[in-house]
Amino acid sequence: MIEKVLIANRGEIALRILRACREMGVQTVAVHSTADADAMHVRLADESICIGPPAAKDSYLNTHAILSAATISAADAIHPGYGFLSENADFAAMVEEHGFTFIGPSPDHIRLMGDKIAAKKSVSDAGIPVVPGSDGEVISLDEARKAAEVTGFPVLIKASAGGGGRGMKVANSAAELDEAYTTARAEAQQFFGNGAVYMEKFLSRPRHIEVQVLADHHGTVVHLGERDCSLQRRHQKILEEAPSPALNNSERETIGAIVSDAMRKIGYRSVGTIEFLYEDGEFYFIEMNTRLQVEHPVTEMICGLDLVREMIRLAGGAPLGFTQDDVKFNGHAIECRINAENPETFAPSPGRIGDYHAPGGLGVRIDSALYSGYSVPPHYDSMIAKLIVHGTNRNECLMRLRRSLSEYVIDGIETSIPLHQKLMSSASFVNGEYDIHWLEAFVSDDGEP
Ligand code: ADP
Repeated sequence: MIEKVLIANRGEIALRILRACREMGVQTVAVHSTADADAMHVRLADESICIGPPAAKDSYLNTHAILSAATISAADAIHPGYGFLSENADFAAMVEEHGFTFIGPSPDHIRLMGDKIAAKKSVSDAGIPVVPGSDGEVISLDEARKAAEVTGFPVLIKASAGGGGRGMKVANSAAELDEAYTTARAEAQQFFGNGAVYMEKFLSRPRHIEVQVLADHHGTVVHLGERDCSLQRRHQKILEEAPSPALNNSERETIGAIVSDAMRKIGYRSVGTIEFLYEDGEFYFIEMNTRLQVEHPVTEMICGLDLVREMIRLAGGAPLGFTQDDVKFNGHAIECRINAENPETFAPSPGRIGDYHAPGGLGVRIDSALYSGYSVPPHYDSMIAKLIVHGTNRNECLMRLRRSLSEYVIDGIETSIPLHQKLMSSASFVNGEYDIHWLEAFVSDDGEP
């Protein structure tokens, strides 16, 4: 039984984990940098420990300080949230070696899925369809040319250790291949300390559709349907919805069953997300995230489940206690990521919040650690709030979202609320007709692409 959890994160997700713990009667330990001494998760936790200066590498990524804090506070378990150390297999292994429970998958699964070449091979062997491309790593320009001939242009060169949408290069023709390959390799080495790259067919107008799974330590795996995360800017998700407006029930059930079956085969446990590109009725695996995701609330809203609570229960060894037949999807949910940034130039806008008023009412959920008088520090990710809305159908959800966005007041800094408002008036978005490239065009053309 887990009785005390150290939350190795900050911002809204630290608060989200804290809330689940409190409802379960589990004690909480917050860790924080000096820049976050006044943060909401620190104020609300049962105990808090400062683990270092503002720079993440000295605080939220400081494994030794975090393990010391867990020892001093006599925590049983560590929840890593998302980002920071959540997909660091060495950290997960260290946590277990020090006698704490890591609230997440096994270090081996984190390591496997963190290596995208190995991940692709492993899920493909387990029956999941993947994007056509090179057979593993592409080690030379010569190999790149040969692989591209088989795949056909355009191609995408991707870093095996990549993440956050960085280190990807498109080549539209043989003439562009040399430069794309060489830069992708150099950037992979520079960003991720690992120059290994692979090649995929570049899909021209896919949607990004991901499947959420939940797996216990006893071999039970369920899928919780899909999320459509096609609205992206620079490969960063801006708005997510569940279910996807593009799928029918039969496609949903088929891909869900394929994913659950594959996760059972590889012995996966905890939460996980299998990301696909979807084009012309076909699914192509791109990567698996071995952690809780930013957009998990849309799944929670349509399934009526608390994913953080489930993660904690499962990490303590509890059986899932329900089967796929018990999972019922209800209505529609959309999440808007609200960032502290200029809605047109996307320049970060940290600073002190003046008036703060969050929307409420039926079906409206705010996951945020903001409060009036809080200063958004410049050192971390610019996402400051998630507005999640649920409705009996997509249309009701959109009406509710428009209403909620118009009520939301965050004074003192610039936010992406106006961008979301603009999106709500776009016919393509309202009709659910968009692919992964649509938002970039919508933003740069100042309106409908
Ligand atoms: P990361 O781990 O950096 O997020 P992903 O493999 O998940 O990398 O890809 C991120 C995004 O890049 C996807 O959501 C999609 O928008 C785009 N992308 C990835 N692979 C392809 C592909 N083969 N064709 C077209 N777009 C792609």
